[in-house]
Amino acid sequence: MLEVRELEAWYGQAQALWGIDVDVADGEVVALVGPNGAGKSTLVQAVAGLHRSTRGTIAVDGVDVARVPAHRVGDHGVALVPEGRRVFARMTVHDNLVLGAYRRGARPGLAAGLERVHGLFPRLAERSSQLAGSLSGGEQQMLAIGRALLAQPRLLLMDEPSLGLAPVVVDEVFDAIRTINADGVSVLLVEQDVERALEVSARGYVLAEGRIVASGSAAELTGSALVRKSVLGL
Ligand code: ATP
Repeated sequence: MLEVRELEAWYGQAQALWGIDVDVADGEVVALVGPNGAGKSTLVQAVAGLHRSTRGTIAVDGVDVARVPAHRVGDHGVALVPEGRRVFARMTVHDNLVLGAYRRGARPGLAAGLERVHGLFPRLAERSSQLAGSLSGGEQQMLAIGRALLAQPRLLLMDEPSLGLAPVVVDEVFDAIRTINADGVSVLLVEQDVERALEVSARGYVLAEGRIVASGSAAELTGSALVRKSVLGL
C-alpha cells in the first residue's frame, strides 16, 4: 500500500535523505531502524505530508501523496503517531481523541473509533475527562496512538513509540501494535529498540546517514552483522 521511490529530502540546502525506496504491503508491520540522525523521522514525516521539501514519489495505494496538500494526506489513509507524543496537554483525553477524527471522512466513525480505542487502552476510558498533561508518559503515548487511530488510518506511521517509557508500558505499546495490525492496519514503525521492533515486524529497513543500507525479513536483519554493527553498535 505504500511505495516510496527515489525519495530525497532537504532541510534548506542540507540533504537528509538520498534515493530511499521503501515498501509496506497491505497488512504488514515494517520496522525502520538506524542510528540517531539517520533520517528516520524525516522519512515518516515526509510520508505523513509534514516534510514537503522532497523529490521522488510517495505512493499510497497508487496516489502520490507528496503531491497532495498536507492537510489532505490523511484522506488517503495515513496517520502519524509523532515522536514525543505531542498531545494537547491543556485539553482533556476525550478532546484529544476527538481531534484525531478531524478529517471529514473520519467523523462518522467517531463513536465506534472511541469504543475501539477505549477497548485497546482501558486507561484512556477511565481518564477520559482528565487533562492530557496530567497523564503519565505511557498514558500520553497511548493517547497519541489512540488519536491517530481515530483518523481511521490504513497505514499507521509510528515514530519512536517506546522512547522513555517504563518496560511494563513498553510491553503494552508493543501489544497494542500487534492488535492494531491484527485489525487490518499496516504499520511503519520507527524504533530505537531494534530487537523489539523486529519481533513485531515482518520486514525491516536499516537507515544510516540518509540512505537505506540494509533491508530484509526480520529474521535476516536480526542475524545480520551489519545491523548489529551499524544499529546496535555491537
Ligand atoms: P533521531 O533518532 O535522532 O530522531 P532520525 O533518524 O529520526 O534521528 P532525523 O531527525 O530525520 O533523524 O534527522 C535526519 C538529519 O536531518 C539529521 O542530520 C538532522 O540533523 C537533520 N535535521 C533534522 N531536523 C532538522 C531541522 N529541522 N533542520 C535542519 N536539519 C534537520
